[in-house]
Amino acid sequence: MLSAENEKRIINWIEEHKDEFIADLSKIIAVPSVATFGVSEGEYPFGVESANVLAAAKELVESYGFPVKNLDNFCLVANVGEGEEKIGIFGHLDVVPCGNDWNYPPYQLTVDGDLLIGRGVLDDKGPLWASIFAVRCLKDLGLMPKREIEFFLGGQEECGMNDLLHYVEVTEKLPDVSFTPDGNYPICHGEKGGLRFCLAIPCNDEKIVGFEGGTVRNVVADKCTATLKGVCAKCLAEKLAGNKRIEICEEGDLVKITANGASVHASIPENGINAIGVLANALLDAEVFEGEAKSAMEFLKLVNSDYNGAALGVPAEDEPSGKLTHVGGVISIDRGILNLSIDIRYPVTANGEELLEKIIRTVEPYNVTVFDVADTKPAYSPADSDKVRTCMRVINSVFHKDHWKPYTMGGGTYAKHLPNACALGPEDPDYESPFGLFRGSIHQADESTPAKLLFDTMLVYAKLLVELDDIDVTK
Ligand SMILES: [Zn+2]
Repeated sequence: MLSAENEKRIINWIEEHKDEFIADLSKIIAVPSVATFGVSEGEYPFGVESANVLAAAKELVESYGFPVKNLDNFCLVANVGEGEEKIGIFGHLDVVPCGNDWNYPPYQLTVDGDLLIGRGVLDDKGPLWASIFAVRCLKDLGLMPKREIEFFLGGQEECGMNDLLHYVEVTEKLPDVSFTPDGNYPICHGEKGGLRFCLAIPCNDEKIVGFEGGTVRNVVADKCTATLKGVCAKCLAEKLAGNKRIEICEEGDLVKITANGASVHASIPENGINAIGVLANALLDAEVFEGEAKSAMEFLKLVNSDYNGAALGVPAEDEPSGKLTHVGGVISIDRGILNLSIDIRYPVTANGEELLEKIIRTVEPYNVTVFDVADTKPAYSPADSDKVRTCMRVINSVFHKDHWKPYTMGGGTYAKHLPNACALGPEDPDYESPFGLFRGSIHQADESTPAKLLFDTMLVYAKLLVELDDIDVTK
């Protein structure tokens, strides 16, 4: 337990290092570190700017006296302190592109009163730097915990997380417990599992020239188009006259029928409209097909009849994380087979392998097969575990928000790829951006944060690392 006396020393240390923190953070913000995906530039797997920010960060962290390794320009790893067990702190230095709608210079830290503005101040350069300063503080004050601390500074969190996957691959011993200051306060104690696969749906029909829909697997398809021959465009238009989501056009002897949906992220599919389901329904209503293609449309209609796994035989749900979600994101046709990608987010207490078995049994009677499977296990620490309770106690002692409760989510942070990991901070769910709803927050123009939030985060991490000494973090 941290004594009141030592807590006071930490608070004083933070007060004395505020200017230095802002000065150092501004050097990191100054690098326009948008990472590339799938395009490496020579020895830079995520492009030159991602490598540049790693170089700038390495110089600073070394100047604090922490040894730093650069893992092939994927990420930096810095180790501080000693101990049999290891605590990991995972943050990222890459940012999403800034767009051209900023009122402030995106790659220059603006300090306006207590407000800090610049790309990455909140996601995730600022919070990561706050956690580094927290450990500097503990080292300066002789308060280092009994466990070693390993910092991970990533170069490609925003588009692929290959930085982390590389680290996991080459690291001999992963931390026993990890935190990532890259979510919301207070603490995310569960991230749903992810099951991704494709369904092969037989759909041989000479009328079908093309069948394409959706753009990415983790987003509800907003458009889906069937290109047909040997059908009458006028008859189709008559049969579907009342359907506002359908457009029909003729191109030579081909007829294109397009369904318009509404795209949303796969973690909240109930807020969207899947164009693939809309198109299948329309083609059935218009009685375009018979035989195999008709069965295929019936299957697509079924898959899109709910978003919670019922159609696939896996309507799972649990108390900590709610319902399973499923989304058919992308569809295409190849030699009479429709290939449909499925993105499932499953509850933290469910088992991906068991779900997959049930899905295979459910689709078998339709002659549909499952291929290309990837399963990312859920990350979950029960809310009443010593670890989550300790985190909550420390967070409450700094923020005094009694209504904050540990939460779970369907999206993924680094925590999902690490054993015994949680996102902790930095976003304040009660905070409203001074620039309105669509400006000033993460991924938006004029990304900003009160400096106080970062200093409070520094205090949270400093206190937490000491308080974890009292518990078994592996439970
Ligand atoms: Zn982030």
